[in-house]
Amino acid sequence: MKRIVLSLAFMGITLLSYAQSSIPAGYQHPDTKGMSPQMSEFYAPVPAKVAPGDAATSSAPSDAVVLFDGKNLDKWCNSKGEAAGWKVNGDGTMTVNKRAGDIQTKDNFGDFQLHIEWCVPADIQGENQARGNSGVYLQGRYEVQVLDVYENKTYVNGMAGSIYKQSAPLVNPCRKPGEWNVYDIIYTAPTFKEDGTYRTHPYVTVFFNGVLVQNHTMILGNTEYIGFPHYEAHGAGPIVLQSHGDPSAPISYRNIWIRNL
Ligand code: MG
Repeated sequence: MKRIVLSLAFMGITLLSYAQSSIPAGYQHPDTKGMSPQMSEFYAPVPAKVAPGDAATSSAPSDAVVLFDGKNLDKWCNSKGEAAGWKVNGDGTMTVNKRAGDIQTKDNFGDFQLHIEWCVPADIQGENQARGNSGVYLQGRYEVQVLDVYENKTYVNGMAGSIYKQSAPLVNPCRKPGEWNVYDIIYTAPTFKEDGTYRTHPYVTVFFNGVLVQNHTMILGNTEYIGFPHYEAHGAGPIVLQSHGDPSAPISYRNIWIRNL
């Protein structure tokens, strides 16, 4: 127990120091050998619950690229570039098919504004991370977590609206299962030095049901389930929607559009 507490304290200090200063050239992330997933999961402070306002579903602005309008998955494919195998329901929504894996946009994006709506079933089962888990990966590598956290305890840096395993949401405005949640995500892509380290980190701002949950948050590196974020130089990338494989909690999406910035 003592060792776990010490490890968490060490990681907290490490992440804090990442956040407060730029990573020096040639920096290698610490060796994660011997680490468990639990060593990068934090339970406090718990973001306060906030009842979101009644923001209406927004339709796409005229200069947006509509990625999903409810009709088909023509703008999407699986990780091999084949047809996206999620279910288009005919009512403007689509639903994860866990056998089909993640889906991603055929197009790649740099800086953008992304609008996306998601909903878990009213009769959702499961708990912790196995309760409507999905995710929106920015440039295919930085996950904004999707999860039912209306009444579901989990580590705070794995809640909906978190940058998974990096930054907890400022508050928790999640709606009840069966109701639609809305993310508006503003993303600034990183730039890299010749040695592959960040010249400027990626930054993200997230509104969750119209409530600010990430305020120009610096992304530390790729989303990792175990260990520390790491990074490698990359260019434009797709929006990826995660199929987490939860057996009883198929998650649905609708009204997805993006504006290049
Ligand atoms: Mg996820």
